[in-house]
Formats: sequence, C-alpha cells, structure tokens
Amino acid sequence: MKKAAVFGSFVVDLMARSPHLPVPGETVKGSMFKMGPGGKGFNQCVAAHKAGSDVVMVTKVGTDSFADVILDTMKDLGMSREHIFLNKDTETGIALIIVDENTSQNEIIIVPGACNTITAGEVASIEDVIRKCEYVLLQLEVNQNANEMVADLANKYGCKVILNTAPYVPITDEFLAKCYMVTPNEVEAEAITGIAVTNLDSAKKAAAYFKKKGVTDVVITLGSRGVFVSSKGKEAIIPAYKVKVVDTTGAGDAFNGGLLAALAEEKELWDAVRFANALAALSVQKLGTTPSMPSREAVDKFLA
Ligand code: ADP
Repeated sequence: MKKAAVFGSFVVDLMARSPHLPVPGETVKGSMFKMGPGGKGFNQCVAAHKAGSDVVMVTKVGTDSFADVILDTMKDLGMSREHIFLNKDTETGIALIIVDENTSQNEIIIVPGACNTITAGEVASIEDVIRKCEYVLLQLEVNQNANEMVADLANKYGCKVILNTAPYVPITDEFLAKCYMVTPNEVEAEAITGIAVTNLDSAKKAAAYFKKKGVTDVVITLGSRGVFVSSKGKEAIIPAYKVKVVDTTGAGDAFNGGLLAALAEEKELWDAVRFANALAALSVQKLGTTPSMPSREAVDKFLA
C-alpha cells in the first residue's frame, strides 16, 4: 500500500434536524441535536482510514474543549495524532448544520477557526510526510497559502495532489497546474470553469477546461446521478447506486476519502471511482458526517 495524507480542515459539527429550514428571522423548533467531529479534511481522512488506508491527517485545532472532539475520535479510531497542530489564540473550527428532516436538504455555516491559521513553519514540518506519500488530498477549507505550500512540497517529491475543490473559493491557474487530479462537485465545477455541468457533454467540456490548466485526471461528482470521470482519453458517467437516502451531508467527503484509499492501494482510477461511489452510497444512508463513514468490510460486502 502506498502512503497517503490528507491536509485539511477539522471542525466540530453542531447539527440540528428540524421540520423545515428556517427562513431569515424565523426560529424553528428542532427535533434533535448532535455534536461530533467534522470538517472536509477530517471527514475525508476518516473515510480513507475506515476504508483501510494508512493515511496521515494534518490539521490544526485550538486549545479549547472542541479540540478534544478530534483528538478523542482519532484515539478511538486508532489514527495517529502526530500532525495535529495547536493554536493557543484561535478557537477550533465549527460547522453549524441544519438538516430538513423531510427533504434531507441542508444549510451549513462553517467557521474554520484554527485550521485557517496553518503556518509556513508547520507546512515545512511535514516535508518528510509528503516526501513519503504517493498522494496528498487537499480541500479549500484551510488557509489557501498553506494548501499552495503543500502542493509545492508534493510537486517537489512527486507526490500526486488530489484537489477536492470544496467549498468553492477562487483558485489560481498556477495552483490548479500543481494538481494531478481535481474532484469538484457540479456546483464547484461550474463556479471554476463557467460551464454548467448538466450532462456528459458539458462534463467533458468542464474536464477539458481543467486539463488545459495542467490537471491530468478529472472526476466530477454528480450527487444522486453518480460521477463523471475523464482519464487518459476515456470519459464516462458512472451512475450512483440507488439507495434509501437519510442524510447526504458529507457524501462528497465519503467519496473523496474512498477514492484516496483506493488509489493508495493501487487500484486503477476507474476501479477506485467505483469503490468511492459505493462508499459514498453507504454513507448517505446514515446520519452525520464522520460517523456515517462505512467500514471496509461494509464497502466490500456492498460491492460483492
Ligand atoms: P457533495 O457532497 O460534495 O456535494 P455529491 O453530492 O456530488 O458531493 O456526492 C458525492 C458522491 O456521493 C456522488 O458522486 C455519489 O457517489 C454519492 N452520492 C451522493 N448522493 C447520493 C445519492 N442520493 N445516492 C447514492 N449516492 C449518492
């Protein structure tokens, strides 16, 4: 198995379910509240770890009690906490998530806090980690200058950068050129390329945009429609599995973590995408983000 790392966010998810999403000025009486670990980086790392990957998590938290949420979860899951940086002056990040219990639609506000303050010195301290990795998975929730420094390190050592372009923030062409693979969802693909991804044809056009910028492989997730892949001249949509959806929060994270795990164990891209598609289909059948990531056993059973 090749080494893999996730460099990204950790936030505490504060999730409430309610009969409908509040409109401005409205207070809605919710039906349940749950607190747990989240953040795109951490969710993706947990998905990869539970899928059997020997994956390193790099993130930053505050010295408040919310930091214990990640530290305790990592301990429980048997993950190394060696590369969790601390910021004494900034709070651990949080995400306020509201889920409509009837439609499963959600609204999210994220305050990245400490994980938005990763320094050049901290990035330099993981040089050896990146040197040993075949893949590093990034998102856009941490301070972007740190992402760019990690991409530079990865390029220096031939470690492939997978960029999950979530949530959308403007990124430079120079940064895109340092990425081996991008994994936007439809919304991000449109925001970056200007092309509305509604079918195979438009997905191919969006992929061509990324390739022109220097990206090798393009994977666009299409929610319940599945996932578009463009690699080595072959382009197609792999349909999503038809499952009973409970909560799609974190579907993209499940997918990206699954993809990383599968690539790190040297599955070829199309097989890795099928694996990630299955892993994500299992995750949407459960509530929450990190807690909804399935075990390797469950994914293998689903695919059997
Ligand atoms: P994001 O959460 O980033 O918006 P998507 O909604 O595109 O990402 O979902 C990511 C992946 O999760 C999809 O490509 C698919 O594999 C899986 N997925 C999402 N929604 C469903 C669904 N309703 N049924 C089955 N699989 C789903």
